[in-house]
Amino acid sequence: MMKPPKDLVREEVLALAAYHVADAAGMVKLDAMENPYALPQAVRREIAEIVSAAAINRYPNPQAPQLKARLRQVMAIADAFDILIGNGSDEIIQILIQALARPGAVVLAPDPTFVMYRIYALVNRMRYVGVPLNPDFSLDCARLLAAIEEHQPALTFIAYPNNPTGSLYPEADVLRILQAAPGVVVLDEAYHAFAKQSFIGRLAEFPNLVVMRTLSKVGMAGLRLGYAAGSPAWMREFDKVRPPYNVNLLTQLVAERLLVHADVLAQQAAAICAERDRLGAELARLPGVTVFASAANFLLARVPDSDKVFAGMRARGVLVKNLQGSHPLLARCLRITAGTAEESAQCLDALRNSL
Ligand code: PMP
Repeated sequence: MMKPPKDLVREEVLALAAYHVADAAGMVKLDAMENPYALPQAVRREIAEIVSAAAINRYPNPQAPQLKARLRQVMAIADAFDILIGNGSDEIIQILIQALARPGAVVLAPDPTFVMYRIYALVNRMRYVGVPLNPDFSLDCARLLAAIEEHQPALTFIAYPNNPTGSLYPEADVLRILQAAPGVVVLDEAYHAFAKQSFIGRLAEFPNLVVMRTLSKVGMAGLRLGYAAGSPAWMREFDKVRPPYNVNLLTQLVAERLLVHADVLAQQAAAICAERDRLGAELARLPGVTVFASAANFLLARVPDSDKVFAGMRARGVLVKNLQGSHPLLARCLRITAGTAEESAQCLDALRNSL
């Protein structure tokens, strides 16, 4: 007799809810921290030429030497450290977890944070320990250190700055975590372009530190490229778990070329930060709206009734992320990506009329 999925699919998977991506067709899309700006025409033409000449009949070089050399140069990654590339940093999270998923091993992170740490941990039968942030989304460092002591995590994720809160934890606290954690500590610097703070220069001090970044938030979400830097002893093990051709040829070629134009991307990031600050100040003036400090390209705002505001904004053509129900600390919270001045105006208008 043929068995249905519930008899064969692993219990951890059956218990999961799929990562939800809202339909955004025709909307002002402020739900996924994308960069709203197009690339200059000249850069687009360069990309078109590279793509048209690409040997897509061949597998890509699995080590992506040119791309890695460019990443090393642009991101100032010292030669002593190895680079791991992923199909988005999502895949890097998955690879690290797969490599460390011994029975009973723990993944630990301040919570609320990026949900994929927990999802991949559970899928791989690791135990996920979420250590609550303070209600204002600052880090409760003493509590985190106590949890590290108690649970001895194989893997600790620190999103720096954090998604969905935008908080950037004090450097001194992160250093204490790096000193205390027995396992690998991943500094997830997905929003580095906006926060500017980084631990990439401190890899030599902490052999178990892995610094991870993504090109998604600086204008290449569609390419899917994440990367991590760390000591060769760890990266060698992680690379065994990586699917050999995980980063496709077009992504390798186009990302390498776009990184030549890192100045264009940096200018766009600066414009997004300025718009984030303007939008934050305007939102904070609305009645009943609290805006939390953010070092990333989005804002977290608490509103009187987030389900109502989310639905009202969507009806007015503006898509944001409703975090109500995702974590007790995120009650009545919306996460709003910072975009262009025009998008901010539409967002403010929609929010004001949906309160
Ligand atoms: N880390 C953090 C903290 C994120 O917010 C995200 C995207 N939401 C990711 C990693 C994954 O990004 P990507 O897979 O696009 O690189």
